[in-house]
Amino acid sequence: MHDLQQTITGFETWHLALPVTSARDHGIGRVEGTCEIVVLALTADGGETGWGEASPWVVFTGSPEATKAALDRYIKPLVLGRRVADRGQIMAEAARAVAHCTEAKAALETALLDLTGRILGIPVYALLGGAAPDDLRIPLSVSLANPDFDQDHLLLERLREDGVRLVKLKTGFSTHAFDIERLEALAVAFPEFNVRVDYNQGLEPDEALARVRDVAHLKPDFIEQPVRAHLYDLMHEIRQSIDVPLLADESVFGPEDMDRALQSGIADGVSIKIMKAGGLTRAQTVARMAATRGLMAYGGDMFESGLAHLAGAHMIAATPEITLGCEFYQAKYYLKEDILEEPILYEAGAIVVPERPGLGHRPDRDKLQAYRKPI
Ligand SMILES: [Mg+2]
Repeated sequence: MHDLQQTITGFETWHLALPVTSARDHGIGRVEGTCEIVVLALTADGGETGWGEASPWVVFTGSPEATKAALDRYIKPLVLGRRVADRGQIMAEAARAVAHCTEAKAALETALLDLTGRILGIPVYALLGGAAPDDLRIPLSVSLANPDFDQDHLLLERLREDGVRLVKLKTGFSTHAFDIERLEALAVAFPEFNVRVDYNQGLEPDEALARVRDVAHLKPDFIEQPVRAHLYDLMHEIRQSIDVPLLADESVFGPEDMDRALQSGIADGVSIKIMKAGGLTRAQTVARMAATRGLMAYGGDMFESGLAHLAGAHMIAATPEITLGCEFYQAKYYLKEDILEEPILYEAGAIVVPERPGLGHRPDRDKLQAYRKPI
């Protein structure tokens, strides 16, 4: 039955706590021990299953508890008994049924697309507009956020060997001197890397201008989100005072924010995430709105497993407006173990988007059981 008339009969969720290899500091918070995600499985009659992941970070987008409740209580009744063909309608109803909870909606759309792609025998990127062969290798950026910079040195050596050439230094969680010192050390010891800087909202308004100007003198590719998300006027002022591109991340979740950000001139580019936008198609809309006004777009992520990486990678492969690479590194460089049955392929500093049906990989059910967060 290739006309997508199958009924969705199964809706299962897992709240997982995935062990990580080190602490990471970002401007707005620290991750330590584990990161928490919610996995969704939708099963259609005929037995095919589609998978999706929600990757909330409590200080950024929302909590795993709210995400799981959004899925189990408010979204599940909209999905069970519907046809696989009803994807667009289901997404529109989910948007109205529960406010915010963008990660839950991203998981829902991912699972619906994965299910559709598996039934039709085509990859998710083909459902989102298709991709040229070159678009199936997306340059990988790895974030440096270890409070112990010596540990990041070891990571950098591994990255160099693996062919990775993009890194993003997380700044604004310690002293300004520590940020400058690390940027200068990177330029000397690792000149082959293109360096980006991300404050994750870490600067106070009274210190932001001077600090960002200092960093801009060191010529990173771009500087991301130096101040709190809602400080649009200050973002605009900082943008006017530096000659490297300023990127918005936390200031722009979905198309509604993008519209306001474009009107306010807060950035030269935007970090696009399916977890912020509330799905893959809304993320594509954000990228296209940005491109219309000449803004660059970058493929950001949250603290994710390989399942969400795949969703983001399929979306980017089908969105040529996203030109600055992606940061789907956690599955390989940060989690102690990913949840997929077989690992995602990374080659020569790029993530390789699978050409198989759906997302191209499935989670390992034994791992879902093993990493289930005890209630
Ligand atoms: Mg960011």
